[in-house]
Amino acid sequence: MMQLTELVLASHNAGKLKELQAMLGDAVRVRAIGEFSSVEPEETGLSFVENAILKARHAARVSGLPALADDSGLAVDCLGGAPGIYSARYADGLGDAANNAKLLEALKDVPDAERGAQFVCALALVRHADDPLPILCEGLWHGSILHAPCGEHGFGYDPLFWVAERGCSSAELTSIEKNQLSHRARAMVLLKQRLGLA
Ligand code: IMP
Repeated sequence: MMQLTELVLASHNAGKLKELQAMLGDAVRVRAIGEFSSVEPEETGLSFVENAILKARHAARVSGLPALADDSGLAVDCLGGAPGIYSARYADGLGDAANNAKLLEALKDVPDAERGAQFVCALALVRHADDPLPILCEGLWHGSILHAPCGEHGFGYDPLFWVAERGCSSAELTSIEKNQLSHRARAMVLLKQRLGLA
């Protein structure tokens, strides 16, 4: 098992760093990639896992520390997994509302039974930039796509993501509720187990 006392998180999102530090506890110090570099690597992979590995390797290279990266998005079954790794820029960088409108348009003739989708989170942890054996953890959150946005919480595709076990959209969940169910939460639980911290 990997003995970790310090790692760098390959994300410029301060919220993610705080969340991860809280989850890992005092045993592991989480450093921000911004301390080492402002350059973001090109995400040239075709899968969430490939992009997570690519970001983790870059973070390890610039910091000289073990590095953790995540890549996440929404994969819609009847669209062959789109928007997938392109979730953030599905509507050419026009933002969440445009992304959601584009998704609704793509699904406008699709019946309820065929609107299945999952949020996906891939985590990759490398001990060093050329690590041949990254720790990989994936979290999936199954749901389906609504016909119109619903709810005010969350971000991204949350207003369109129907959570059957709660009978509401993920934008109607509180952040505490969402953090118990989400793709990110599931991947984080697996990572903690792999690190012997669970
Ligand atoms: P990132 O990996 O956090 O940058 O997320 C990539 C994109 O996937 C986001 O911009 C959202 O469009 C979508 N996404 C990822 N996770 C979520 C979520 O929990 N709710 C809604 N959208 C999400």
